[in-house]
Amino acid sequence: MSASTNWRELAANLKFRSQIFIDGRRVDAKSGQTFAAINPATGKTIVEVAAGDVADVDAAVASARKAFESGSWSRRAPSERKKVLQRFSELMLQHGDEIALLDTLSMGKTISDSRNIEVPVSANCIAWYGEAIDKLYDEVAPTGGDALATITREPIGVVAAVVPWNFPTLMTCWKLGPALAAGNSVVLKPAEQSPLSALLLAELALEAGIPEGVFNVVTGFGETAGRALGLHRDVDAVTFTGSTEVGKLFLGYAAQSNMKRVSLECGGKSPHIVMADCPDLDEAATAATFGIFFNQGEVCNAGSRLIVEKSIKDEFLDRVIAISKTLQPGDPLDPQSKLGAIVSKSQMERVLEYIDIGRKEGAKVVLGGNQVRTESGGYFVEPTIFDGVHNSMRIAQEEIFGPALATLTFNGADEALKIANETIYGLGAAVWSSNIDTALNMSRGLKAGVVWVNCFDEGNITVPFGGVKQSGFGRDKSLHAIEKYTDLKTTWIKLRK
Ligand code: NAD
Repeated sequence: MSASTNWRELAANLKFRSQIFIDGRRVDAKSGQTFAAINPATGKTIVEVAAGDVADVDAAVASARKAFESGSWSRRAPSERKKVLQRFSELMLQHGDEIALLDTLSMGKTISDSRNIEVPVSANCIAWYGEAIDKLYDEVAPTGGDALATITREPIGVVAAVVPWNFPTLMTCWKLGPALAAGNSVVLKPAEQSPLSALLLAELALEAGIPEGVFNVVTGFGETAGRALGLHRDVDAVTFTGSTEVGKLFLGYAAQSNMKRVSLECGGKSPHIVMADCPDLDEAATAATFGIFFNQGEVCNAGSRLIVEKSIKDEFLDRVIAISKTLQPGDPLDPQSKLGAIVSKSQMERVLEYIDIGRKEGAKVVLGGNQVRTESGGYFVEPTIFDGVHNSMRIAQEEIFGPALATLTFNGADEALKIANETIYGLGAAVWSSNIDTALNMSRGLKAGVVWVNCFDEGNITVPFGGVKQSGFGRDKSLHAIEKYTDLKTTWIKLRK
């Protein structure tokens, strides 16, 4: 990010795309309906966006199907798909300021996070799958001499991607990268809170050489456009990221329609365990602080349950509080701001309601607890930390999805594991210990899709991400993600002598 960029000026001159993108063209919703994209830092409308519904989803799926069957992308050589995806990734980087601004304006994250993290990591994801796809080989089965059997991976067909608002570009690219690399056509429904960057991405994909109809975007609400995709009989797979509640709906939609494949990346309540033999309390305190307050706490794997060994709890919590005090929310367009706005008024109210619930349950607020920057007209909540939390409390069990940390204590590894695993979720988990046996035994015992040892939220595109239990199933990132977007075909050829 250039230090001299004047983000407010760029934002004032930004062009907003607001129509649905089908078959390589921008179109209004067939109903003519629109909805307001609101800037949560000001409470003001940015632009009216097309509100897609069943008819628009039908048109997008028909376009995706036609493109898939034409073979213009699905049967293109992997080495050619690679070049196009690399070009798409380059275009994303060239338009990095614009993508970052669209996300920051619509969902409130800081411009420095959007520009320095989300844009480059998303562009890398697209390039990585492009680069991987011409290096994957199919299989020949050990049949014996009288037959040849091949096991080949084929694209599934039309993939519907339904994504949330917390990382609008990244969640989109985690789906797009492997789905497009494998040869599928995609219909994307971005979250209604953050629909803007996806419409730019669709144009960049077309410019990069992805054929018309291969990547369509239907903006609109979950109950209308999202539901229509879930129930559509010509959608072959749904890849979903969002809440556990809506994830369950997609299982139902598939059952009621055509048994489409469903993969779900859902909510979390990740335990962040600090053992008394933690190798570096300062480092762990920094990780625990950013583990909950990064992206205003609107992170599926946020370390929202800090589980600290009793003997070091006070000392450790003091350090977390000291660092958290430096993270006051500011204008998301100011590159110096450490925290931005909460995505919407209703999400802010939900966070404040949970803070109230925590107080009533008997937990003690030791930092924050309030809405701030009310004069801005936007939705800001200060970093909030609870002490004295029991695992049975709602603030320890329910996903708040905001800047609120619950601190719990334990004695010994067994109790830590018990507390950590007593949740319906199983997305991420972390443990800090100097003892390799403790760390490994904890890692084995933690019911989570990702475990971090002596760090938090580390990783890159090479490793899978996803959950167990009600955090969902299926994995984003890494070569394993390609499994969600391909089917195996066996071809058994009998040999005549
Ligand atoms: P959400 O479930 O409300 O919405 C996600 C998407 O589903 C949106 O596009 C929305 O329009 C759509 N949707 C909503 N209701 C629908 C319905 N009835 N039918 C069909 N589609 C519908 O989630 P959110 O509030 O946008 O995002 C926050 C949630 O996402 C949190 O629970 C968070 O943990 C989860 N999340 C998970 C991951 C992960 O990788 N596991 C990553 C980011 C966010």
